[in-house]
Amino acid sequence: MSVIVVVGTRPEIIKMAPVVRELERRNVGFVFIHSGQHFDYEMSQVFLEELGLPRPHESFRLKNSNPASQMGEMMIKLEKALGEHRADKPSVMLIQGDTNTMLAAGLTALKLGLRVGHVEAGLRSYDWRMPEEHNRRMIDHVSHYLFAPTEVSKRNLLEEHVWGEIFVTGNTVIDAVDMYFDRIEAVEEKVVQQLRFDEYVLVTFHRAENVDDPKVLRDFVRVLRGSPMPIVFPVHPRTRRRLQEYGLMGEVERLDNVQLLPPQGYFEFLALMRNCRVVMTDSGGLQEEATHPRIRKPVLVLRNSTERPEAVMQGFARVVGVNPVVVLAELEKTLKSGVELPGVSPFGDGRAAVRIVDSVLSRLGT
Ligand code: UDP
Repeated sequence: MSVIVVVGTRPEIIKMAPVVRELERRNVGFVFIHSGQHFDYEMSQVFLEELGLPRPHESFRLKNSNPASQMGEMMIKLEKALGEHRADKPSVMLIQGDTNTMLAAGLTALKLGLRVGHVEAGLRSYDWRMPEEHNRRMIDHVSHYLFAPTEVSKRNLLEEHVWGEIFVTGNTVIDAVDMYFDRIEAVEEKVVQQLRFDEYVLVTFHRAENVDDPKVLRDFVRVLRGSPMPIVFPVHPRTRRRLQEYGLMGEVERLDNVQLLPPQGYFEFLALMRNCRVVMTDSGGLQEEATHPRIRKPVLVLRNSTERPEAVMQGFARVVGVNPVVVLAELEKTLKSGVELPGVSPFGDGRAAVRIVDSVLSRLGT
């Protein structure tokens, strides 16, 4: 056991896929663990299958969903699983991003004497309402190897005096689009055929600080209703639950200008993104994917901050908040603007996974 890879949610599986594939390409043995933070087929299993990833050696099914209990359960299960794969030489656990289960994995690795490698280190929104911000800060401070996607994220880490070694690698999300691009193109026609509109805004919305707040969710529904262009909206399970709880689901279902879809597979989703006019989202990964040279879409970020300022600096994204008047005005403006977006992504050149695996192997002395 010298490399352990832990994934658990949709974006983690997508963003670790290039690293897993690179480990396989070089015949590096690794232990693959699925945390089960997302367990339903459409949020998790479908991605393991579509992206051609191996069957996890360990797959947990977390019973708890409250944050502290979930982390506790994850740590207990992971410690036990790792006990069964005992380390006899220096080992690295690779974790990605900023979820509760990733923090739990990082802390467990630290306590078991494993080194932690954090893929996508150094992102900061400086918004302390976000659980993701707590997690990414803490993970960065227990990591031996910090794989920062950009110079901006490296600077954030240096400012916080992290202890680990920093590598600027690019973001593996760009590698993933390159790696699976043929598959995206292959489903494109079918995906577009199911749409009711020729031109549309692609919307996703699921961050806790947005959908758990009934006022923000109601305002979001006003944005859907008032949009000057039809909307295609794959609904995250958390958002669906909240729309139902707050009695808004019926209203959204009756909107003629909105086509609701279930969570999409990765290829289908990127095909939707390639064909849309504008992306409106509170997702992190979408802000990055939209900058890929073969996607290149303007993004309105439905939040008050972003941990991906590179997309804003390069003109791809605008942070527009959640006030419906402002969001709709920004949407009008974006639809009218003929500004050409850059042909290069600020998030890397598609070789992040190669750099990450190079660094890990060199530090393990392999
Ligand atoms: N995605 C997907 N199907 C969908 C919506 C998103 O495959 O219906 C992909 C998307 O391409 C991106 C990732 O899921 O790679 C983003 O996940 P999410 O927005 O849940 O997480 P975040 O990036 O905000 O952490």
